[in-house]
Amino acid sequence: MAFEGLAERLQNTMKKITGKGKVSEQDVKEMTREVRLALLEADVNFKVVKDLIKRIKERAIGQEVMESLTPGQQVIKVVKDELTELMGGEQSRIAVSDRPPTVIMMVGLQGAGKTTTTGKLANHLRKNHNRSPLLVACDVYRPAAIKQLETLGTQLNMPVFSMGTEANPVDIAKQAIEKAKEEHHDYVIIDTAGRLHVDTDLMDELEQIKTTVKPDEIFLVVDAMTGQDAVNVAESFNEQLDLSGVVLTKLDGDTRGGAALSIKAVTNKPIKFAGMGEKLDQLEAFHPERMASRILGMGDVLTLIEKAQTNVNEKQAKELEEKMRTASFTFDDFLEQMGQVKNMGPLDDLLAMIPGANKMKGLKNAQIDEKQLVHVEAIIKSMTKKERQDPSVMNASRKKRIAKGSGTTVSQVNRLLKQFDEMKKMMKQMTNMQKGKKGKGMKF
Ligand code: GDP
Repeated sequence: MAFEGLAERLQNTMKKITGKGKVSEQDVKEMTREVRLALLEADVNFKVVKDLIKRIKERAIGQEVMESLTPGQQVIKVVKDELTELMGGEQSRIAVSDRPPTVIMMVGLQGAGKTTTTGKLANHLRKNHNRSPLLVACDVYRPAAIKQLETLGTQLNMPVFSMGTEANPVDIAKQAIEKAKEEHHDYVIIDTAGRLHVDTDLMDELEQIKTTVKPDEIFLVVDAMTGQDAVNVAESFNEQLDLSGVVLTKLDGDTRGGAALSIKAVTNKPIKFAGMGEKLDQLEAFHPERMASRILGMGDVLTLIEKAQTNVNEKQAKELEEKMRTASFTFDDFLEQMGQVKNMGPLDDLLAMIPGANKMKGLKNAQIDEKQLVHVEAIIKSMTKKERQDPSVMNASRKKRIAKGSGTTVSQVNRLLKQFDEMKKMMKQMTNMQKGKKGKGMKF
């Protein structure tokens, strides 16, 4: 998950203080010392840490905590508030121009994830906001970059405007906007050239594009894994171009990533999106409060619900409820469910969004083995339609065949059958319990 090391250390620190009926100045001192070390260890800029700790200390020793009935929890609230502030406070939404198309210019160093994010953002705008974006290939220095954007366009089934490598990027951007107007695209996302380092030629070109097309947003795409460099890059781009926001990529990586948390404090520009993987649907709108909550192990139910809503439609959810209620849930349904959960992203990330999941016995150290799921899927797919509906018809030789067909063993097949059986029993119990509570519908 994002900021894993930082999350683990902060959660351990918070655990010590949660239940305290009284919080002394000494407790606060110890807690802030540990928070400070955790942030520095995660590579958050030292000056940013210093300011943050000062504020936490002032508030934690102040009235709001000392006079509260649950001081331990109040301290944690202070830490959460301050982390939220550090990451930008309120969520910063994407601009919508009242004279379409809304123009977004993507800038950043080579390899930061600019082109991928251009595709992801277009996908996000269409999927979640019902928009129709036009992608624009302005990186004329690397033919591969144009090709990459075109490939993304094909994958997304979205148009890409390009004029090859001979044209001038400023002209390309200008003509793309004309085209977007003619074809009624409401967003134009311009993928610009990147370099390995900040250089003046590149900055001049970006400034010219900016002056000509007057974008509504200029997003700097920053690789969260590049440490303090990410902060320096953000400062340079911001000085030259006056950015409107930042997209952090590769937050799914297991490096410290904390430097990225300093970007808002240093540039005063909001983080608008976070890239959580290479796939085109792995981009999340950045909500500082939800991220702070995830880092402190309090979960992020809202993002989880949103993910579920975009991946499971209402009709499917109703059908599932009905099947669970009548205990007619089959392996086919199970397979479908697995597909939907997989669409929502890596299981580890999903678990981090469930409040308290990190504290649950068993789950705490459980490595979720996605390979297991692949086996489960293979086993189910090797069953006949009839067997999927009624596993009891399977005899020993069929189980052997299924194991062979799915590259697993008979004991793996048996285990799955047993688990499925238990799951159905549990569904029945839940349904009976719900029946007991008259008038209350089933809730997921
Ligand atoms: P550009 O040079 O800035 O246009 O970078 P690209 O879009 O070509 O991305 C560089 C590499 O980073 C590619 O291999 C991408 O798949 C990968 N990448 C981009 N965003 C993410 C992300 O959020 N997570 C991970 N794990 N990889 C990413």
